[in-house]
Amino acid sequence: MPHVMISSKKCTGCHMCELACSAQHEGAYRPSVARLFSACNPTTGVIKGHTCLQTACAKCQEACPNDAIVTTEITVKVKGDFPGKEKIGDTVKGYVLIVDEDACTNCGECYDVCPTDVIHEHPDREVAFKCDLCGGEPQCIAFCQNPHVLAVDLKVDKMDKQLQA
Ligand code: SF4
Ligand code: SF4
Repeated sequence: MPHVMISSKKCTGCHMCELACSAQHEGAYRPSVARLFSACNPTTGVIKGHTCLQTACAKCQEACPNDAIVTTEITVKVKGDFPGKEKIGDTVKGYVLIVDEDACTNCGECYDVCPTDVIHEHPDREVAFKCDLCGGEPQCIAFCQNPHVLAVDLKVDKMDKQLQA
């Protein structure tokens, strides 16, 4: 599964990825409906990235009684202004978990099981919303504002590597 990861060591907590995500999906700079986020522990100062692990996790899909979270094939091409990001320019094939809004009843079964807290009730549409890798062009990666440390990047697991042939 291609999936986005925020490096805790590299992220500065600027939240640009959240703005890019919400702009892409909601047409507004609104981090509360971003599909990923970084959080800074106020005691330790350690930043933790929260992103969907897609099919490597799939706990939301397993919990859904309505089969509303669907495994969908995707081709991801990472774009961005900054050279040097691990996968910029590469095309990666794999699978992503998409919410079928027609099937979702907003029962909430998926919300509690997510280990990274990145699937929620949409405040306007009363359905679940989560990362869909922007249909193949993840905007969080494209707009990460820390080009020298490459804080947001795409990861690919062994299962998807077999698809790359
Ligand atoms: S809220 Fe929607 S996606 Fe989540 S478990 Fe319920 S029906 Fe499935
Ligand atoms: S939304 Fe959460 S539970 Fe669902 S696959 Fe992503 S990380 Fe796992």
